Amino acid sequence: MITKNKLSKSSTSGFGKAKRTTKDWGAKRPSDKKWFIILPLLLVLVAGITFGIIMLLKSFGIIGHTGSEPANDSVEMPSEEEIQSYEEENRESEIIPSETGELDDGTKSIQPITAAISNNPTINYGRLMLINPNYTVEDDFISARKGELISLYTTYGILELNSYNGDNLLDPEAASYLSKMLDDYSISNPGHSMQTVSCFRSVGTNCGRLCAATGTSDHHTGLTCDLIDPVYGTSLDTDQYDKHIEWQWLRENSYKYGFIDRFPEAWAGGSMNEPINVDAKGSTGLFETWHYRYVGVYAATEIAQGVYNNGEYDSLEHYLLARNLLTDLLNRH
Ligand SMILES: [Zn+2]
Repeated sequence: MITKNKLSKSSTSGFGKAKRTTKDWGAKRPSDKKWFIILPLLLVLVAGITFGIIMLLKSFGIIGHTGSEPANDSVEMPSEEEIQSYEEENRESEIIPSETGELDDGTKSIQPITAAISNNPTINYGRLMLINPNYTVEDDFISARKGELISLYTTYGILELNSYNGDNLLDPEAASYLSKMLDDYSISNPGHSMQTVSCFRSVGTNCGRLCAATGTSDHHTGLTCDLIDPVYGTSLDTDQYDKHIEWQWLRENSYKYGFIDRFPEAWAGGSMNEPINVDAKGSTGLFETWHYRYVGVYAATEIAQGVYNNGEYDSLEHYLLARNLLTDLLNRH
């Protein structure tokens, strides 16, 4: 029994073993095939995780840089051209109200606190206010208006070439547009810049026909600047117009920023030796290629495109007459 049992056991176990061995061989083959698939997948997984960790560490600047090299060098910076075109795009969208639906009829905003103390009704036209030998203002208007202005130098770093009473002041809205206009002039004309010669004037001048007496000057509006590119010298001389590319550029582009050529040649009228004569048709009596006046983009566009002047550059005087904002231009004083 014992033997039998032994034999039987042995036999059984032997058989079992042999059977199992055969079975194992059969089972091992597919298992090895699995490893052929799993191993490469594992390797790929491990490589992927390792790569991920390295990239993560790099992004935190923990590894990947040597010496004093700053960690953020790996960040791709936009090129100068990309920055410039981005700035231009943003500037364009800022300065062209027609694209943002902010146009008005030119008589909104810039309501001087001094309207009540002036006998000049055009003061109530805000940025379209008219000051000339026939539409004058008193000292109280001029001093109050000065209090509404900001320093171009302090706010925008715009230099005044020929400090006039040390003012270099301008209405805040006009100043922001002026700043953009001067920036764009420099971008359009590399190596060039424009400076103000004088903007607000609290007193008039006594220099012949080119300067207006106190109470009659467009410079009292706080919306005006004489502009020059110092590369071409500092002389304000209409005979030099052809040499001054900044005056030509302004004439072509200033309306986009709400500024107009306030005294275009076509509206000068008379001789330069005669007294300033603002006639009933809208002549200004002056011809100044450097004198630019803020009236807002809407009115500036209409004036530059001559909407009320058969397509030719208009004068502010004629424009106001044509829009029925003036009843007369003569004999008010
Ligand atoms: Zn001027």
